[in-house]
Amino acid sequence: MHEMALSRSIADIARRRAEGRAVRAVEIDVGELRQVVPDTLRRCWTLLVRGSDLDGAALRVNRIPAVLGCRACGARTTPTDLPILVCGACAAPDVEVVSGEEFLVRALEVD
Ligand SMILES: [Zn+2]
Repeated sequence: MHEMALSRSIADIARRRAEGRAVRAVEIDVGELRQVVPDTLRRCWTLLVRGSDLDGAALRVNRIPAVLGCRACGARTTPTDLPILVCGACAAPDVEVVSGEEFLVRALEVD
């Protein structure tokens, strides 16, 4: 499962950054454009860390809204018709993703 693989990468990063300290919580940013279901991710995380050195560490998921920048009219809009990415102001398909593709470990809470 996709979310299980993601949980494993998060755990790897958390272990590296914790440097042996006990981890209470891991906070991650997940862009809206990522094909990630936060509930599923949290479930996978709980299964993955159970009985490991990260047992009990909570996973906090921040959803980052998608924002598109239009190269045609310059507007910044939020896509309403995902996964179709067009400008919300002029409907041009020539847009760049300003945010929404994040997937990163933002913070760790350690003892
Ligand atoms: Zn536009």
